[in-house]
Amino acid sequence: MDHFFSPTLDELQRLTQRVVDETIAPRAAEVDEQGLWPAHSMAALGEAGLLGLQAPRSLGGHGQGLLALGALTEIIGRACPSSALCYGMHCVGTAVLAAKATPYQTETYLKPIAQGRHITTLALSERGSGVHFYLPATALHDEGGALRVRGTKQFITNGGHADSYVVSTVTAQGSETVGGDFSCVVLDARTEGLEWDEPWRGFGMRGNSSRALRIDARVPGQNLLGSQGDQAWYLFEVVTPYFLMAMAGTYLGIAGAAFEEAAGHVRGRRYAHNGESLADVETIQTRLAAMWIAVEKTRAMVREAGARGDAANPDALPYILACKADAGDTAVSVANDAMTLCGGMAYRDNSRIAQFLRDARASHVMSPTTDLLQLWTGRALLGLPLL
Ligand SMILES: Cc1cc2nc3c(=O)[nH]c(=O)nc-3n(C[C@H](O)[C@H](O)[C@H](O)COP(=O)(O)OP(=O)(O)OC[C@H]3O[C@@H](n4cnc5c(N)ncnc54)[C@H](O)[C@@H]3O)c2cc1C
Repeated sequence: MDHFFSPTLDELQRLTQRVVDETIAPRAAEVDEQGLWPAHSMAALGEAGLLGLQAPRSLGGHGQGLLALGALTEIIGRACPSSALCYGMHCVGTAVLAAKATPYQTETYLKPIAQGRHITTLALSERGSGVHFYLPATALHDEGGALRVRGTKQFITNGGHADSYVVSTVTAQGSETVGGDFSCVVLDARTEGLEWDEPWRGFGMRGNSSRALRIDARVPGQNLLGSQGDQAWYLFEVVTPYFLMAMAGTYLGIAGAAFEEAAGHVRGRRYAHNGESLADVETIQTRLAAMWIAVEKTRAMVREAGARGDAANPDALPYILACKADAGDTAVSVANDAMTLCGGMAYRDNSRIAQFLRDARASHVMSPTTDLLQLWTGRALLGLPLL
């Protein structure tokens, strides 16, 4: 038992592990090979009540925070990183919905999420602003109480499969967007005026269905989350910490699984000509130790970030910013070293290690990217504004 975890969180982890063992792990290779969106994973997590991790307890959810999100995505990420990414983005979307939910939004979105019947996700990224996800150009027009949303999002995890999409927008008048006034709107999947681009074919995270969406839709005013212009609050209090913990957990899961795969191979591999085991080679012993140290250091930082964030510790910010960058670097380097230790068996087409290495590389591309996070961590440590 990890000293960070409450008995409730221990129980949630055991439940998640059971879902992983019974449903998610057996189909992980298929998800990667076929670029299959893991409907089975999301359904099983829903049946176990885990889609409501961030939904309020009063609705039957778990009301959990950052530590739990990092811990559960780690468990799923060890088996199937695409499933962890899909689940993580659902949880981030749920946290955004829950942050300032009206009675209508509670009834329409949070209640079915808590009951395991609704998948949501986050649509922030756009071609025009790239890694600067906090600068959307998708326009929000007030049409006498109703809202007109116009724009194109890219790389939406769970794209085409979620039941709702939390979309970032900027207030517009006429054809002009009015700088800076950013708001989030929730769009139902069946809203008229949503047009999906081609299916996702990624280098890694092949099951996450990260697709582009053209939006020209009119939705009721009750779909606005919070008040118009709640930008800074949503971005830095909800989206960023929850997103970073979901991703840190996922990449930590990859790093841990790649280490175990390598350790297992080293223990079992023995040469026919002299009976020597790879485990007897000093260079390999040293390399394995370095991989283990990297994983454990990263795990400690991810746990610390989650615990401090949940406790609203005044020094939490640099931990939260740094832990996703660190977990991404650890996942890439440990998966890379695992490929070296496992030799040709790992380099063959679509080995588990090859999949881990491809999946881990998404960490350096997904915003906030590693470079941006290191910059923001430095600014946070110096007491400077992040942007
Ligand atoms: C698998 C996957 C899943 C995703 N899921 C989602 C999702 O669910 N929702 C969502 O909204 N988005 C999602 N994204 C989008 C993602 O978060 C990024 O916003 C997107 O990948 C940016 O891509 P780009 O090619 O436009 O980057 P660009 O802006 O063109 O940047 C390219 C590279 O330049 C570098 N760079 C750019 N600016 C700076 C800077 N100031 N300092 C240092 N380096 C810099 C970075 O290394 C970056 O990787 C996903 C992306 C991937 C790959």
